[in-house]
Amino acid sequence: MRWTATPEVTMRVWIDHDECAGVGVCVDACPEVFVLASDGLAYVKQNGQILGRDQAAVVDDALYDAVCDAADDCPQDCIYVEA
Ligand code: SF4
Repeated sequence: MRWTATPEVTMRVWIDHDECAGVGVCVDACPEVFVLASDGLAYVKQNGQILGRDQAAVVDDALYDAVCDAADDCPQDCIYVEA
């Protein structure tokens, strides 16, 4: 029998869009999770799909350091991480 490993999911990540200034520092730090959209704001992605305003992405634990770098570097302090 062949087993397929499922990535361990341990955190939720979201952006407070009332505060996002669209600078894109988060995208530089972790492009796997953050993307700049045509409205000039950043959004989170889950499994490659861009989520809506203020929605939380469930993110693989392997990206924890990169997500934390994005949150630490965000000039608006509007990235939230729930581990
Ligand atoms: S770094 Fe912060 S303010 Fe800049 S685009 Fe990302 S979430 Fe928005």
